[in-house]
Amino acid sequence: MDNIKKFYFFRCYHCGEWYYSWKQIQKKKCWKCNKTFIFKNSSKFSQECSTRQAIEIIKRLKEKEKEHKPQMNNGQNFYSITKFEL
Ligand SMILES: [Zn+2]
Repeated sequence: MDNIKKFYFFRCYHCGEWYYSWKQIQKKKCWKCNKTFIFKNSSKFSQECSTRQAIEIIKRLKEKEKEHKPQMNNGQNFYSITKFEL
């Protein structure tokens, strides 16, 4: 249940909602704004962790968002400011 997998964390570029997936996908329909976005073009990073940790990361991302509203242009910049201690 707590297998370590490579997760992708990515966000809808229409409304900023965060998602995670353990496989690379083509596109995703955002449940929040109801628009489809292309995975390849979204802000994202990957991390090896368990499903439980992935959920925790998403939670922290959303919290961070509320606190700082960081500027995010690409996943690379973003990754450098979100080094998680798991
Ligand atoms: Zn959205």
